[in-house]
Amino acid sequence: MEFRNTLEFAQEMDTKDPLVNYRDEFVFPKVKGKEVIYFTGNSLGLQPKRAKAFVDDIMTDWAELGVEGHFYADKPWWDYHERLIPPLAKVVGAKPGEVTVMNTLSVNLHLLMVSFYTPKSNRFKIICEEKAFPSDQYMLQSQVRFHGFNPEEAIVEVKKRDGEHFWRTKDFLSKINEVGDELALVLIGGVNYYNGQVMDMETITKSAKSVGANVGWDLAHAVGNVELKLHDWNADFAAWCSYKYMNSGPGNASGVFIHEKHLDKKDVPRFEGWWGTKKEERFLMKPHFEPMPNADAWQISNPPVLSMAPYLASLELFEEVGMPALLKKQKSLTSYLEFILNEIDKEVDSSFEIITPKERGCQLSVFLHGQGRALFNYLMEHGVIVDWREPNVIRLAPAPFYCSFEDMYRFGQILREGILHNE
Ligand SMILES: *Cc1c(COP(=O)(O)O)cnc(C)c1O
Repeated sequence: MEFRNTLEFAQEMDTKDPLVNYRDEFVFPKVKGKEVIYFTGNSLGLQPKRAKAFVDDIMTDWAELGVEGHFYADKPWWDYHERLIPPLAKVVGAKPGEVTVMNTLSVNLHLLMVSFYTPKSNRFKIICEEKAFPSDQYMLQSQVRFHGFNPEEAIVEVKKRDGEHFWRTKDFLSKINEVGDELALVLIGGVNYYNGQVMDMETITKSAKSVGANVGWDLAHAVGNVELKLHDWNADFAAWCSYKYMNSGPGNASGVFIHEKHLDKKDVPRFEGWWGTKKEERFLMKPHFEPMPNADAWQISNPPVLSMAPYLASLELFEEVGMPALLKKQKSLTSYLEFILNEIDKEVDSSFEIITPKERGCQLSVFLHGQGRALFNYLMEHGVIVDWREPNVIRLAPAPFYCSFEDMYRFGQILREGILHNE
């Protein structure tokens, strides 16, 4: 499609957008009384308007029923989390039994490593991407030390090539083959938080499985943002937070995927608690753990229902819209943003560089040569919410659920003014 950098064109794109009405499903923050242009859905998704009612329901049930709410609330609490599973399984390309919701992301990756990182003296290494999200680095280092190995030796990072801003799948595959039968685990971010690159999860998983390693994916920036087929790809496990593209609210519960082949087993290493035991017998308070036949076996505590509520509200929206429609809009919206950036770059003869490769979701990371922090501040003051990463990168993530083509156009105008203003 031929894009144009005009308000009329952007508005026409919005008129033709089948998701256009979903913008009204979200609450937009305001700067100086005006709704912002929100590019930080990759950090904290906007609040779905219907989330409040879902939370209120729990508060009301709690007020009116007390403990009886566990069984007699409109949506009973004891199995409340099960309502989240079918829509969530669709988002990640899993069978419903392979998915559960519990804890938070870093906690879950630790719990999953208890099951899937079981190093032996000859097979103890972990492959990850260089400069992984800090929490992931700390997790891997502490897991390795916990098992009595040396992180320097056990953690093998796949690097970007000199002068390049992205990883090459080839380099993952050759590292996997090089480490070979010393490789215990591959754990990588499915979409890199910094450059927005979508990793070739299918190919990397296949390669790691062929050398006998387990494979897990941190899907914090992938879930709700790119197509996932966790079951078909044969990943062993995955986990994601829900407050980024899943719009569930700050710090909210994490989702977990465990491949069917690992389910309904008693002999897996796993940290267990009463919520993972067979639900039919859970309240019989038996001394022996009988695992749930599905991913719920990894649940430890009874779920925080108050935080499940906005997540459920958000999943209702995902269910209504469906990932294919969301991805379709995402592709055209992000392409339009890319076009706008390039147009402005030409107009102001500025120099910024999109470092996100073509394998991408909705995020574009832009390296600002020179402009830097002052431009970031200008954007924020003018109602454009973006985020800043050292040394000189702004990340723009137009979430297709609630961002419009007009937003992209208006952003371009503010960006140009900001650059001229700072010169
Ligand atoms: C956002 C993010 C996290 C956050 O972890 P929490 O445990 O939810 O605080 C972890 N890993 C990656 C790759 C992320 O992008």
